[in-house]
Amino acid sequence: MNWYKKATSWNIRTTENFIDKCCDIADEAYKFVGQKFAPAVYNKITFFNLYTNQEEYFDIIIQDDKREAIANYNVEKKIMTIYPNSLNDVDMTNETKGIEAIEKAAIHEFTHAIDPKFKQQKFIEKQKNLGQQFGFDYYNFPTEFDAYSKQITEDIKGFISADYDNNFDIVYNWVMTTDHNIPEFLIDYNKIILAWRQYDNLYRSRYIRKFKQRLYNEIILPRLKERKEEQNNVN
Ligand SMILES: [Zn+2]
Repeated sequence: MNWYKKATSWNIRTTENFIDKCCDIADEAYKFVGQKFAPAVYNKITFFNLYTNQEEYFDIIIQDDKREAIANYNVEKKIMTIYPNSLNDVDMTNETKGIEAIEKAAIHEFTHAIDPKFKQQKFIEKQKNLGQQFGFDYYNFPTEFDAYSKQITEDIKGFISADYDNNFDIVYNWVMTTDHNIPEFLIDYNKIILAWRQYDNLYRSRYIRKFKQRLYNEIILPRLKERKEEQNNVN
């Protein structure tokens, strides 16, 4: 059996229209870039959580604080807060880039909202203690691993669709080997991948493998199935 079939992870299963909802959140929040406004609840997102088997929701608040992060999620209050005027390195005056940046942040925070680990108080407490210090402990916290691996997976889907034939093979070649070097297409996530790799080396954990497993399940496997069907249709 290959390693990518053995490795296990929560691999948070998202719900129907997950990406559409993140796009809507980003479109709405982008309207506030460069504006002054009072924070209020702007939207309520409902979704079916496969882990609890029920409809759940969270509120969206848009705030103009100058923070480092574009968004955060409060598990106890069920609130996703978006900071369209945050101090990040994205040129928010560029509409495409700005919306994309908010969408990525929304994918990350929405993953937290679904994450069944947050049903356990110990995770909530530990996450609070981590704060917003984007470092080694933060990137390697299990809920952050799941949220970042989901966020990065969606980003890679975008990278592939930009040049399907070439880029699928590039991703495939990295995923299907035990190569733990950071490929060019992950260069924006250098800091995160390095933190996972370092953690794996120190604690014999399997973050990079789990991440590759997610890429295999969400990107490689569907394409392999598609190819097989195409071949069957020809024969
Ligand atoms: Zn997070």
